[in-house]
Amino acid sequence: MRSLVLIGHGSHLNPESAAAVYAYADLLRQRGLFDEVVEGYWKEEPSLRQVLRTVSYTDVTVIPMFISEGYFTETVIPRELGLGHQGPVPPQGVARVIGGRTVRYTLPYGVHPRMSEVILARAREAYPEMNAEDTALIVLGHGTTRNENSSRIVHQNAERLREGGEFAEVHTFFLDQDPKVTTWREQVKATNVVLVPFFASEGWHTLETIPEDIGLTGEVTVFAADPEAEPGSQPDYAQTVYYSKPVGTHPAIAEVIMQLAEDAHGASAQGDIERGHHDAWSALIQLASDTLRLGEVIVRPVEGMFELRHALDEGKANEGLRTVVTPEGVGEQVRLDERGEYRPVHTLRNLARGWRAVLCERDLARALHLLYPAVVEETYAHHHHALRCTPWAATARRQTGIYAKVQKATPQQVEAVANDVCGGCLKTRLWAGEVLHQTFFSGVPGGIPCAEACTLLVAEVREEVSGKRGQGAAVHG
Ligand code: SF4
Repeated sequence: MRSLVLIGHGSHLNPESAAAVYAYADLLRQRGLFDEVVEGYWKEEPSLRQVLRTVSYTDVTVIPMFISEGYFTETVIPRELGLGHQGPVPPQGVARVIGGRTVRYTLPYGVHPRMSEVILARAREAYPEMNAEDTALIVLGHGTTRNENSSRIVHQNAERLREGGEFAEVHTFFLDQDPKVTTWREQVKATNVVLVPFFASEGWHTLETIPEDIGLTGEVTVFAADPEAEPGSQPDYAQTVYYSKPVGTHPAIAEVIMQLAEDAHGASAQGDIERGHHDAWSALIQLASDTLRLGEVIVRPVEGMFELRHALDEGKANEGLRTVVTPEGVGEQVRLDERGEYRPVHTLRNLARGWRAVLCERDLARALHLLYPAVVEETYAHHHHALRCTPWAATARRQTGIYAKVQKATPQQVEAVANDVCGGCLKTRLWAGEVLHQTFFSGVPGGIPCAEACTLLVAEVREEVSGKRGQGAAVHG
């Protein structure tokens, strides 16, 4: 019995940020290679700190859904998962036993050799007439001077495509390291140039910074010869640039992820049912078989199924509510509040009303996971005195990169931010010394523990320390 965990970045601001990871997880679920597929996020729930608690089996494969190696795949994800590994991940991955689970951590999907095929597919899409006589390919990466691994994969793909012989020239350029993409005309000689962004998704860089930096006007841009150009600085003839969509959104990425999952699957040993997880959900289903009040919802048995709805809609006629019949349908209802605003923390007391879900037992578990990620597992553990809390000081000490700044926050600053952010949350802050005697397992709907400050709170504390809190969209998405 094996679990697959897909790790995405997620966002505190953008409800669509995790859409691709959810979609790939669905595909892998349909493929049936693993007995379950769950998602975990850096900026959403379940967080990287929680996600291993949400898996059902003791053999767990973790794939980072990132386009390149770098800070997240080598530092943040291993640290937050508790892998005890930092730095480059070897080709065979990293395997550790964590809390009784064997966890296999793979390279990110973007380093898979089949990514070269995806780049080629994007190039053909952007310029179907491309040929090896007069077409140059530019593979454009983000790059960073802080981690040379993040550019290595761009160079490797370029090398593979060079060997393939489909282009007269193959170049690599970057936004944040040399060679900078702004210098492309000094190096690219061909009259036709296909520019493929090696980026995970369409966004600020692909839609704004890249076109602005180079002067692209659309999918096809003709750069006229510059008669005043310094000799040798750029061609004294026109060049046409065909700008493709980013590689990370190509449908063939699903195949790359499948391949990665299949490779990892082959390496896996046989796992068992994870006892703590199993016991938590068995106890929950038993409560739901009578009537369960959990957070803002009520769950009750209806004709061999379970019905889930907002507790404030308890007396409402079914006809007056939208009925959904899948866990994903529940996921849709809970992502936004009634004003259409994104809910990055699922236990904030702003769950939208006006819907009901009718689900079988298996789908109820997944729906509750989407509604309140990791809440059943963590609350059950707390109920049995087995939930370890992480005090603020330890959370702050663990932060690196732009979040290391939170180590400077005074206790008063943390408390002020927490009063603001956590004031609207159902959870009780055990990490701040609050005490929770009763949980929904003992009949108190809002009895949900918070074992560790969430990433939204960490981001808000950072803004407070930087003196930027309250200045619009200050929280890092
Ligand atoms: Fe809720 Fe605060 Fe815990 Fe975040 S830190 S989950 S807002 S109680």
